Amino acid sequence: MSANDSVSLGNPLLMKRAPEKLEPLTILDTTLRDGEQSPGVTFSAEDKLAIAHQLARLGVDVIEAGFPYSSPGDFAAVTAIAEQVEGPVIAGLSRCFEEDVRSCARALAKAKRARIHVFIGTSPIHREGQLRMTQAEVYERSLSMVRLAKSFQDDVEYSAMDTTRTEPDYLAQVLNGCIEAGATTINLADTVGYATPDEWRQLIEWLYAQVPAMADVTVSVHCHNDLGLATANSLIGIRAGARQVEGCINGIGERAGNTALEEVAMAVRLHPEVFGVATRFDHTQLFRTSRLVSQLSGMMVQANKAVVGGNAFAHQAGIHQDGMLKDRRTFEIMEPNEVGAGSSLVLGKLSGRHALRERLAALGYRLDDEDLKRAFVRFKELADRKREVTDRDLEAIVADERQGAAESFHLEHLQVSCGTNLRPTATVRMLLPSGESRETVSLGDGPIDATYRAIDALVQVEGELDEFAVQAITAGMDAVGEVTVRLRHDGALSAGRGADTDIIVAAAKAYVQALNRVAASRDSGPRLTPERMGAQKVATEVTK
Ligand code: MN
Repeated sequence: MSANDSVSLGNPLLMKRAPEKLEPLTILDTTLRDGEQSPGVTFSAEDKLAIAHQLARLGVDVIEAGFPYSSPGDFAAVTAIAEQVEGPVIAGLSRCFEEDVRSCARALAKAKRARIHVFIGTSPIHREGQLRMTQAEVYERSLSMVRLAKSFQDDVEYSAMDTTRTEPDYLAQVLNGCIEAGATTINLADTVGYATPDEWRQLIEWLYAQVPAMADVTVSVHCHNDLGLATANSLIGIRAGARQVEGCINGIGERAGNTALEEVAMAVRLHPEVFGVATRFDHTQLFRTSRLVSQLSGMMVQANKAVVGGNAFAHQAGIHQDGMLKDRRTFEIMEPNEVGAGSSLVLGKLSGRHALRERLAALGYRLDDEDLKRAFVRFKELADRKREVTDRDLEAIVADERQGAAESFHLEHLQVSCGTNLRPTATVRMLLPSGESRETVSLGDGPIDATYRAIDALVQVEGELDEFAVQAITAGMDAVGEVTVRLRHDGALSAGRGADTDIIVAAAKAYVQALNRVAASRDSGPRLTPERMGAQKVATEVTK
């Protein structure tokens, strides 16, 4: 053994060499399923398609498009994605009920490549507390539903929900049985975000030893971030032998969220010597994907978020700035361009409709003529007020325009007067679902308060503002401002966002969008989520 070898064992980060050939790491993106279970997030069918197309562009292997049995809307969205999105395998989630599996199979029927993903809670607390089933019943149900799924699709994933709190011996039996029944991917789910990296690795290695058949299938990890450990647990899972990681863009999801896929992707890219795997990602699409998901979910990305945060490539301290000017590598392990974070100036006042269409196409938007017409009007308005229209401005415009389709309330006119020695006053005209256009005037503590009071008086939806945030999309005095709001109605949160060079207008748009989402969710009824779905009783109450 040479001196270098001994160093390499002790310090793999610095010295270990990457293997000649990296093994493929499958990425299953569940932004549209687990991500949509984030409080306040509801994607429209259009939103889902836009995200799915972008995920395909990013290069995810499997898109978990939804949970078809949970609602007619979800069924339709999975069907549309299965029909229209090319490249990735399209997966649907299904509980271990016959009707769920059949519904999932129907929704996926037109996909070129499809996967049925069946799951059931295997831990005592899930079996007894939620499912009211014995160990033997959960075992039998798991196997029979894997078999049923297999009768529709070759590609079948089985998830043991709440893996981390399941009796290990029993878990090994269930997994072995499911592999024999035909599961091709076995997903280990830290559903409650309870695992620590060491224990998680030991459990996976122990399972490999107990269940030799696991070597013949893909082992997957699905981690939640309740302790901020989702990325670490996913990475250690790879070290333990997992070759699929599940997660969401920006780490959105139930409670503290899922594994942030952009973090896993960059960690394995920067450390081939540690993980020995490679994703199929086009990493330059990471920033765009992050922004799209942020816009459509209404969940802002925190500035210090790894890889895709606004500050991820910003340097403040003098010594850092000095180093960066001399050589970026002194304080940066990746370059902004590597993840698509570099901004590009694109269009100006004189750019025509053709240029706009070309640029939007390059950004991945597919607009029909009607949408393009509206986007062009907005673009011209913006270009009049702002010298340079950047990609990020365009994204904001398109995100705004795409919301138009499913709205119950439409903001037609807003005029605000405010200033020193003036009572802030807002005049608002809205088009209501009845087709009637109504106008009112309200006073408020400030211009936004006055505007919101006027809107409230017109739409008559009882909601409570839970969150209000303003962000500048681009730098400079003429920046486009983005407002995100979260509205609480009947205990549920609905998010809205709006963008405009006028912050009051952006705030009004955001509020109206949140109200539209309240109206939409009221019309479609309560959604069924895996966490609310345990008992069969719930299932029979759901109408298709
Ligand atoms: Mn989950």
